[in-house]
Amino acid sequence: MNKSIRKAAVIGSGIMGSGIAAHLANVGIPCLLLDMVPKELTAEEDKKGYTLEHPAVRNRLATGAIARLRKTNPSPLYDDDFADRITPGNLEDHLSQISEVDWVIEVVVENLQVKKDLLSQIERQWKPGTIVSSNTSGISIQEMVADCSEAFQKYFLGTHFFNPPRYMKLLEIIPGTKTDPKIVQQMKLLCENVLGKGVVLAKDTPNFIANRIGTYGLLITLQQMLKNGFTVEEVDAVTGPAMGRPKSATFRTLDLVGLDTFIHVADNVYRNITDESEKAAFATPDAISSMVARGWLGEKSGQGFYLKQ
Ligand code: NAD
Repeated sequence: MNKSIRKAAVIGSGIMGSGIAAHLANVGIPCLLLDMVPKELTAEEDKKGYTLEHPAVRNRLATGAIARLRKTNPSPLYDDDFADRITPGNLEDHLSQISEVDWVIEVVVENLQVKKDLLSQIERQWKPGTIVSSNTSGISIQEMVADCSEAFQKYFLGTHFFNPPRYMKLLEIIPGTKTDPKIVQQMKLLCENVLGKGVVLAKDTPNFIANRIGTYGLLITLQQMLKNGFTVEEVDAVTGPAMGRPKSATFRTLDLVGLDTFIHVADNVYRNITDESEKAAFATPDAISSMVARGWLGEKSGQGFYLKQ
């Protein structure tokens, strides 16, 4: 049980998956970084005469994420070639390679069905002993693996990194009802001692601890702002640098998280809440949904509450 993590696989190469892979590579754990196969060519790929079958196209999402990571190595404490320890790939061609790793981390969109489908694909390639975790912001850990075997469920848990994963020290670990306590302990020790995180064990309740409180705070701020006509700049002025929190002003945070992800996370509590009197606090304002419908997702799309410089 006390084996070390010699190699990992991160599935989903977006904001969080790429950051988690970078953090693992920074501490010396080589990892695969897998994402979906693109359904369309970019103008540049088209010009080069590539088809959708070209490996550069099939691996584009993860390869592009690694290229972005190379530009953002956060600290002189980390070596510059950390990105060489990340191998990009796609789920269709490379998922079978997870049989060679000790830890698989699911980091795809915040949607129960998408995560369930992916986990059943992972289980087909899984070998007993490999730990599998989800970076979900708050979806039920138990529900995600409800259709998987008991053997698989013993090795499955939530490992919730915070954004940006290389900077944020907090990490929530969420056992499911069937998770082996020895695996929980092993992951706690690994995350604290190897990844340098401050681990909080959380129960499998909607949005766990941090996002139950955090989502509530953000939504109350938004609702008060709309009701009282505060501006984005005013709210960020009083919730950011002036409060000694240079990087966590309300709307800067929402842009960093991604407004699409934020809606999914808030909606998860809204749908699963048992106390009806609490429900209204978790309703996402229409203003946010219209921004998402317009493609204003935050930093990842170049426009959110702020235009990315
Ligand atoms: P993102 O939108 O940046 O990236 C999601 C990635 O998943 C994309 O690269 C997409 O191509 C890939 N993907 C989507 N469907 C897939 C599928 N079926 N199979 C494989 N890949 C698929 O999202 P993110 O912000 O990185 O969030 C990922 C997870 O981490 C979510 O569960 C989210 O709730 C959680 N999380 C997000 C934050 C945050 O601040 N954004 C913080 C903590 C946890």
